[in-house]
Amino acid sequence: MTIYRGTFLDTPDNPFTGGGLRVDADAGLLVRDGVIVARGPFGDVRRAHPAEGIVDLSGGLVLPGFVDTHVHFPQIRAVGGLGLPLLEWLDRYALPEEAKMADTGYAAGVAAEFVRGLAAAGTTSALVFGAHYADAVDVLFSAASGVGLRITSGLVVSDRLLREDLLTTPERAYTESHALAKRWHGVGRNRYAVTPRFSLSCTDDLLATCRTVLDEIPGSLFTSHVNENEAEIAAVAELFGGSDYVSTYEKHGLVDRRSVLAHNVHPTDVELKMLAEGGAAVAHCPTSNAALGSGLFPLSRHLQYGVRVALGSDVGAGTGFSLLKEGLQAYFCQQLIGDQGCALSAAHLLYLATAAGADALGLPEVGDLSVGKRFDAQLLRPADGSPLAVGVEHADDAEEALARIFTLGTPADVHAVWIDGELLHN
Ligand SMILES: [Zn+2]
Repeated sequence: MTIYRGTFLDTPDNPFTGGGLRVDADAGLLVRDGVIVARGPFGDVRRAHPAEGIVDLSGGLVLPGFVDTHVHFPQIRAVGGLGLPLLEWLDRYALPEEAKMADTGYAAGVAAEFVRGLAAAGTTSALVFGAHYADAVDVLFSAASGVGLRITSGLVVSDRLLREDLLTTPERAYTESHALAKRWHGVGRNRYAVTPRFSLSCTDDLLATCRTVLDEIPGSLFTSHVNENEAEIAAVAELFGGSDYVSTYEKHGLVDRRSVLAHNVHPTDVELKMLAEGGAAVAHCPTSNAALGSGLFPLSRHLQYGVRVALGSDVGAGTGFSLLKEGLQAYFCQQLIGDQGCALSAAHLLYLATAAGADALGLPEVGDLSVGKRFDAQLLRPADGSPLAVGVEHADDAEEALARIFTLGTPADVHAVWIDGELLHN
């Protein structure tokens, strides 16, 4: 067993429903086989377990590992394609990279960059949009397993409107999805996600197949996109006989506790009600929404209807892997909405980047650092003399220090990352 000594910040109680930031300075967390088995003042934990090794993390702040609920593995080399709205951006930047995934060697290079990028940003769990090619998804799971990340991913499927080389058929999607799930679902920290790109590029036959696959793989998740951009929403309505976007999934039984839908920038009240009643979660991706000019996320309305929300980086439309940056942008977004915005504190941002994501992804074993949870954690320790180090040093309290971390922090400030108590990088 190991005792981790340090200052720990987490949000075991939802700050949107009366909880707040938990701060334990000079605490000790006793970890056995990756699980936190005791927690308290360091002196007490030390006295109770005098023979155990100590890892001293003083001089920084320890947070739970981040949970990224929406990120595209094939798009890391497409980050920074500025100046276009969604559908044009897809054609110009994203889909050409998606097509390159047909080359498994190319995909392996991207997968290595991708998992390194996630881990370096302090992200320990992620729901990952895979590739349209089964071999590329295989390569992603291999790379994630090599690093030890907690990944849920799957084959991305589409059978209309995209470029020809990205299309499949319901039959092929069924066979390839099952083959991947058989290889990876429940193996190590990997799980399978049924992943139609968006209903814009999927026929009802393909979405029905997605439901079948989801039901046949117990413990799998469902993920896709919804209500991101006005032109996209209009095109979906036209294709589905005037239907709203959420209904295109809901009519196939794809809106429930297993579902994580990205964006939802422009939902109707009826759609929010449907999401809440089904128990689906929404991945809020604020830098992507700003970069593509998709709009300002109506967080207050989601909360009002009881829709679960967590953060996603949405690389490559998003502007990087760091959920610190997404948290800051989420804050900016709510400020810009004005009276209808939801005032976010540092505790809210941490919750959205950790415990809310764990809840959205059905990972009750992570998200905070309570006894019984897995030790998925990150040490934030900015370089001496950097603006962040100065800010943290002069903060009045831990919540103010955390606000400065969200404001100024980058992956360069993530000094170390653990999953199940295993150190990923240092
Ligand atoms: Zn996306």
